[in-house]
Amino acid sequence: MSSVIQKYTRALGASNLRDDAQHHQTEVLAAAALCRDLGTKLFRVKYAGDASSYSALLDAWREIVKTKAAHRTWPADVSPAKVARLSLDHWLNDVCPACTGRGYEAVRGQPTVLSDVACRACAGGGTRAVQAQHKLQHLVEDMVEALNAMSAHAAGQTMKRLAKEVEF
Ligand SMILES: [Zn+2]
Repeated sequence: MSSVIQKYTRALGASNLRDDAQHHQTEVLAAAALCRDLGTKLFRVKYAGDASSYSALLDAWREIVKTKAAHRTWPADVSPAKVARLSLDHWLNDVCPACTGRGYEAVRGQPTVLSDVACRACAGGGTRAVQAQHKLQHLVEDMVEALNAMSAHAAGQTMKRLAKEVEF
């Protein structure tokens, strides 16, 4: 059990975690709480240029990945800490270098004009592919997806808050 989850369960005042179902429930709750908090941080570091909190971000993300690894029973020779770092680093810098995220090939001879042809490097997605060791590839891809989902959720929550603030 990771230290963050221990702290979380203590904070909840859960005194009896001997029951497996309750234990599992608490871990799921702890992971969800971490995700809510992390989503906002992720969004700030990536889109608001707040690079100062990278190491705090990596610490929090590593705890989440460890929990996911335990629940999904990853192979024993896979380091969740390594998958956490690779996925976070990829996610923070995932722009396709060929099209700089625009998704289309430039018109020949006019690099600033976009054609209708999807970028050959990223197939029009605008993001570069994950490149990791074979045994890590799929896991890193999964965790990049999880980061995308958390960040999108946080962005949605932020938009809702902003919408409330401008309501009168
Ligand atoms: Zn591209």
